[in-house]
Amino acid sequence: ANAGSLRQPLSYDRSMTRARIERREIEDELRGAIMKDELSIYFQPIIDLSTGRIRAFEALVRWFHPERGELVPDQFIPVAEDSGLIITLGNWITARAARAAASWPQDVQLAINLSPVQIRAPGAALGLLNALRDARLDPARLELEVTESLFTEDDPNIAVFMADMGREGVSFSLDDFGMGSSSLHYIHRYPFRAIKVDRSFISGPRIGRESEAIVRAVAEMGATLNMEVVAEGLETIEQVQKAQQTGCTLGQGYYFSRAVPDYLAVMLLSQESQA
Ligand code: C2E
Ligand code: CA
Ligand code: CA
Ligand code: CA
Repeated sequence: ANAGSLRQPLSYDRSMTRARIERREIEDELRGAIMKDELSIYFQPIIDLSTGRIRAFEALVRWFHPERGELVPDQFIPVAEDSGLIITLGNWITARAARAAASWPQDVQLAINLSPVQIRAPGAALGLLNALRDARLDPARLELEVTESLFTEDDPNIAVFMADMGREGVSFSLDDFGMGSSSLHYIHRYPFRAIKVDRSFISGPRIGRESEAIVRAVAEMGATLNMEVVAEGLETIEQVQKAQQTGCTLGQGYYFSRAVPDYLAVMLLSQESQA
């Protein structure tokens, strides 16, 4: 072998180590970030495609790091999941988002993303319901978004968790549909009120007749099963029209709005009630 190919594994190892150190740093800093008030919840509207009105806001967490700048969830949620910190972080996110939603001028829904780790933790339902009670948010206004990765293990506690939350009025959405190991089995077996069709079927380079046919099929299934079907990642008016034509009932994406801080969410709702 020549020297060049021998050097490759070495530099690969070095960058692996650097990535590992960085993860470790982020993990340590994340513990302090909550107390130092570096985290914020932003809200992205989910629009009723037949009326144009805001149906819900999805809570999306942001970390404004003093040195690293703004970090997006993909940079720290996986770290929080691996370290178990996601439980504390998740309850904090729920409490914060619920407190904001409780003071909105309209009773629109609040959607919150839940990691599988959070759901599998003992006392998960109680922790979330306590956060709602403290915030005085009606549990019927909460929608929990989960992905198919939740169902890779056949854990009976998941059905129990969903039933417990469902009894309180909380509903569930199946997020990023079409990405992981999609199976219609989950839709049939668990009580979902909505399916969120992943952005990769709505916008981006691989969009065409085939992705459109898939969205249409999901929308048809949703209509039959009395479920909302949300088109994610709507960026252009053409994509909004396509989502309407294919039968999606709700839409979300930059065309309508990015995720915004609480005070702007309140402004969007107030404008709507004046219109
Ligand atoms: P997600 O649940 O699929 O959230 C939608 C993501 O797509 C958000 O990214 C949002 O900003 C982005 N997005 C919305 N509309 C558009 C669009 O029109 N075009 C494009 N290109 N992107 C759009 P974000 O905020 O970076 O969040 C990424 C992921 O991190 C989320 O994906 C979710 O899985 C996770 N996440 C965010 N907040 C939380 C949280 O509070 N808890 C947990 N467990 N996970 C979270
Ligand atoms: Ca989501
Ligand atoms: Ca999604
Ligand atoms: Ca996603």
